[in-house]
Amino acid sequence: MQEQEQIQLIKDFSNLSGAPGFEMEVAQYFGKRTAPYGKISRDGIFNTYVDRTENTGKKPVVQLDAHADSVGFIAQAIRPNGLIKFVTLGGWAPTNVPATRVRVRNQDGKYIKGVVASKPPHFMTEEEKKKVPQIAEMSIDVGSTSREETIEQFKINTGCPIFPDVDCEYYDSTRLFFGKDFDNRVGSAALVDVLDQLHGKDLGVDVATALSTQEEVGTRGAQVTANKISPDLAIVFEGCPCDDTFEPDWLIQTGLKKGPMLRDMDTSFIANPLFEEYAARLADQHQIPYTRSVRTGGGVNGAAIEYWNGAPTIVIGIPVRYEHTAYNWTSLDDYQHAVELVVEILKDLDAEKIASFHG
Ligand SMILES: [Zn+2]
Repeated sequence: MQEQEQIQLIKDFSNLSGAPGFEMEVAQYFGKRTAPYGKISRDGIFNTYVDRTENTGKKPVVQLDAHADSVGFIAQAIRPNGLIKFVTLGGWAPTNVPATRVRVRNQDGKYIKGVVASKPPHFMTEEEKKKVPQIAEMSIDVGSTSREETIEQFKINTGCPIFPDVDCEYYDSTRLFFGKDFDNRVGSAALVDVLDQLHGKDLGVDVATALSTQEEVGTRGAQVTANKISPDLAIVFEGCPCDDTFEPDWLIQTGLKKGPMLRDMDTSFIANPLFEEYAARLADQHQIPYTRSVRTGGGVNGAAIEYWNGAPTIVIGIPVRYEHTAYNWTSLDDYQHAVELVVEILKDLDAEKIASFHG
């Protein structure tokens, strides 16, 4: 895939709407983009599977995963003044929600622009200014002046999904993207890219790719994909949160332009250490930059897959600044290095190496 095509792929994925449970757009786009590389199927929670054309059914199965969903909101009820009371889909810090520009998918499937309303500082008491805002007290304003107008004219009511509304931009000068949902649309794009680079190539393993859903509400989609695929080994692409703007140098474990991150552990998951070391040595050999991370928070699909049937699993993160807000940065070079590392791993793996990860 040419670089211009990679840039467009990431922009396309970023611009799609795909809150947890409402990933249809992302699933359809992914299916369209991967159709040249295998047989596509989808289940009832929009997990999309690609059975690679070159698969034999006789080799160990490697599951390649990324999640399609990104944090969003859902309408809970319409207030008497026409504003939308909402709840979060996925983890948001309440301080990062007010003044976010959003689009609501109405009951006709049309997108309506809006904003998370906040009280102007003029009307805030001193106490209110110091307080952390509560999601339950916030509203989304689509420019309606009554409950009837929101329900009847705008066709918005309980259950309508709400997405951040930001157009992705790419800057040649810095090779950075600015946009939304890089957690985990950069991983989604990486799946397409890996399949493209391996197209027509004979491998020592069969590759079962699944773009899974509902990760942000507890790795639900990956529990289903792991069950269906029952892999012998798994590689998970993630958009992982950068710590490089607030940690000292010696503690930075995920940084913009520092290469992909190999996740040793988080609160949900411990990577198979033999597979992890193998991946790190292969990266060294190919001079691919990377960082390692040990996290005291977070959770990844690696947990859902690894603890399904004990398949050795690693998580490869593409660094994203300010994820779980509407405005993120990510780097084309980090993306390319993550793809390159996974391509090299898949070209190198065979049954013997996979067996060696069992210790
Ligand atoms: Zn993620």
